[in-house]
Amino acid sequence: MTSMIDPFGRTVEYLRVSVTDRCDFRCVYCMAEDMTFLPKRELLTLEELERLCTVFVSKGVRKLRLTGGEPLVRRGVMELVRNLGKLIETNQLEELTLTTNGSQLARYADELVAAGVRRINVSLDTLDEDKFAKITRWGRLPQVLGGIEAARKAGLEIKINTVALKEVNEHEISSMIDWAHGEGFDFTLIETMPLGEIDEDRTDQYLPLSLVRSRLEEKYSLIDIPYKTGGPARYVKAEETGGRIGFITPMTHNFCESCNRVRLTCTGTLFLCLGQEDAADLRTPLRNSEANDLVSAAIDEAITRKPKGHDFIIGRNQAPSVGRHMSTTGG
Ligand code: SAM
Ligand code: SF4
Repeated sequence: MTSMIDPFGRTVEYLRVSVTDRCDFRCVYCMAEDMTFLPKRELLTLEELERLCTVFVSKGVRKLRLTGGEPLVRRGVMELVRNLGKLIETNQLEELTLTTNGSQLARYADELVAAGVRRINVSLDTLDEDKFAKITRWGRLPQVLGGIEAARKAGLEIKINTVALKEVNEHEISSMIDWAHGEGFDFTLIETMPLGEIDEDRTDQYLPLSLVRSRLEEKYSLIDIPYKTGGPARYVKAEETGGRIGFITPMTHNFCESCNRVRLTCTGTLFLCLGQEDAADLRTPLRNSEANDLVSAAIDEAITRKPKGHDFIIGRNQAPSVGRHMSTTGG
């Protein structure tokens, strides 16, 4: 087994793949209401995405996460999931996961399990129907809760991801924790990151998790635990519920020193860091040779350029740190 090691000695073994930039929601912190999406002809086919994933796996990737946009709205995506799932059966891949808004889970949960998916992350920022409609602009809460229920029945392990949003859900966080833990789900909070132009001012949305944590400590006894899922979250256990709470703090705490991941977009662009523009085009070498040597060399070259870290800043009238939206690179 080969491995990809970057100039800072970090082994890259986690690939996130944004299979589409499209979505059936328009979350206010993620997208503008009126988005221009990539023309279909610019997308890699699902076969090409699978080929690229397989090359990454042969180079040492052990965990693969499909994301987007909304991964489950890309037509035919289950074929990709099934084929990648076969890499788990043959022990080439440790884990295949998905980050989803939950809207299509009622339809796909059983198929995901059959394909070898064991865990999923579902993004959910509120349990209040009106707020949910406001945050997602196009989403409906009952559909998502139905999807989560279907996922649970299918046997998927579920982690709820919640973006902490000032004034919007900041006073609901502990009731969401009680709900998630009551259902047996892990719960992770995320700070908003300055990615892409949106219609609102990010300063109005940003809520530092250091503040959220100190408020939670008034209600729960939080115990730091070494639990890891391969992602950047730091976990605590809430004694009162027995459940886990994760904190993803790109703004208040820089976790780049342990970064083990790279991100592939649906056009075959490889981003070496969520918060930097540096990228490599893998589509050209992929299409220029039926063998994988060109694309493998392009990946090796890209890994030598993996930056040390991001430098996100959120301030009034501040341009986004990177111009692309989270839905391009995938969360
Ligand atoms: N559509 C799927 C979903 O919502 O789970 C997958 C893609 S979405 C871009 C992945 C994650 O990124 C979601 O949990 C979402 O809340 C988060 N996200 C989107 N924009 C963000 C931003 N600017 N800052 C922090 N998190 C963001
Ligand atoms: Fe879509 Fe996910 Fe972005 Fe919301 S966060 S608009 S569900 S991609």
